[in-house]
Amino acid sequence: MESVQTVVVGAGVVGLAVARELARSGREVVILERENAFGTVTSARNSEVIHAGIYYEPGSLKARLCVEGRQRLVEFCRSHGVGHRICGKLIVAAGDAERAGLERIERRARAAGVDTLRWLDGAEARLLEPALRCRHALLSPVTGIVDSHGLMLALLGDAEDHGAMLALLSELTRAAVRSDGFELEVSSDAGPTRLRCHELVNATGLGAQRVADRIEGLAPGSVPPLHLAKGNYFSLAGRCPFSRLVYPIPNEAGLGVHLTLDLAGQGRFGPDVEWVSEIGYDVDPRRGDSFYAEIRTYWPDLPDGALRPAYAGMRPKLVGPDAPAADFRIDGADVHGAAGLVNLFGIESPGLTGCLAIAERVREALDASG
Ligand SMILES: Cc1cc2nc3c(=O)[nH]c(=O)nc-3n(C[C@H](O)[C@H](O)[C@H](O)COP(=O)(O)OP(=O)(O)OC[C@H]3O[C@@H](n4cnc5c(N)ncnc54)[C@H](O)[C@@H]3O)c2cc1C
Repeated sequence: MESVQTVVVGAGVVGLAVARELARSGREVVILERENAFGTVTSARNSEVIHAGIYYEPGSLKARLCVEGRQRLVEFCRSHGVGHRICGKLIVAAGDAERAGLERIERRARAAGVDTLRWLDGAEARLLEPALRCRHALLSPVTGIVDSHGLMLALLGDAEDHGAMLALLSELTRAAVRSDGFELEVSSDAGPTRLRCHELVNATGLGAQRVADRIEGLAPGSVPPLHLAKGNYFSLAGRCPFSRLVYPIPNEAGLGVHLTLDLAGQGRFGPDVEWVSEIGYDVDPRRGDSFYAEIRTYWPDLPDGALRPAYAGMRPKLVGPDAPAADFRIDGADVHGAAGLVNLFGIESPGLTGCLAIAERVREALDASG
C-alpha cells in the first residue's frame, strides 16, 4: 500500500489553499478530488467578492479569518498576478427607518476590527453611483472582487511548485483511524486503491459531513448536521450602470439580493436564500419576480426584462433557517479524537476571502497534533 505524509481531500479554493500551505511547510501532500477538474463546485458558484469582514459575530472564526484572510488574499493576488479589483462596496438604507440597521452593521464591523467604513448620505452616494437611490449608505472602500478560477490556478501552481500532487477523479470513499495515521480507500478511474497517510484534511465543502461519516473511529456526535441554503443569481442584460458593489441590509440567512460585478464589469444580482433538501443548481426563472422588487428599492430604473437566470450556489449551513448563523468549524483531535485529522465544516461565505487564513489555522492544528 502506498504511503504519503498528508492527504487533503477536496480541491476547491479551501482545499487548494490548505494544500499550498502544507506543501510550503515541507510536507509531502496529495490532493484527492472527486471531479475531473479542480474548483468546479462551490468555489465556482459564488459572488467572487473579497469581503472586508463587516457582518460576522466579533471574535468568531468567520470575523477573524475574513479580516486576516482579506489582507493575505490581496497580497497573494498582487504577487501572483491573480485578477482582482478593489472596487469598493455600498451598503444602502432605502429610508430613515433602515438607518438603525446600518448603525448595527457599523458597530459590529468595528468590533470585528473593520474601521474603514464611511457614512454617506443619499446625495453623496449618488455622486459615486448616479443610478443609486438611498437615504443613507456605508461605503466599504476595501471590499473587492477576485477571479476565483485564477486564484485557484495560482494556489495549485504554488502547491505543485512545493511538491504537492493533485489526483483528479479520485473520491475518498472510506477511511479508518490507525495508531500511526489513517488508511484510506479511494475510488479512481483506475479502480479502487488504498493509501496510508499520517495527516488527513477533510476540505470537501458540501461533502464534509459525508466524508467525516465515512471515517471510522471518530468520537460520536463530532459530525454536525448539514443544511442546504441555495443561492440563486440573475445576470443583468446590457450595460451595468454601477462601478461599485451595492448591498441592501442583510437578512437572517444571507446578505440580501446584492449587485456584484465581475472583472469585465458585467453585473449580476443575488444570491437569494432558498432552503432546499437536495443539491441542485437549476435556477427557477420565477424567482426573478422578487429580485425586481428588491433591486428596485435601491435601483428604481432597473428595466423590465433585464434579468436573466444565471447560476446557483449551495451554502453548506450548519443550522437551519430559524437558528442564528453558525461559525466555521475547523475541528481537530480535541473535537473528534483522531490526531492528525482536521475536518472543515460550514465553510460558507466568507470562505473564499478567508481561504489563506483558514489554511494557516489548519496547518497550526496539524503542527500542534505533532
Ligand atoms: C452562493 C454563495 C456565494 C458566496 N459568495 C462568496 C463571496 O462572495 N466571497 C467569499 O469569500 N465567499 C463566498 N462564498 C463562500 C465560498 O464560495 C466558499 O466558502 C468556498 O468556495 C468553499 O470552498 P471549499 O473548497 O470548502 O468547497 P468546494 O469549492 O465545494 O470544494 C470542495 C471539493 O471537494 C470535492 N469532494 C467532495 N467530496 C469528495 C470526496 N469524497 N473525495 C474527493 N473530493 C471530494 C468536491 O468535488 C469539491 O471540488 C459563497 C458561497 C455561496 C454558496
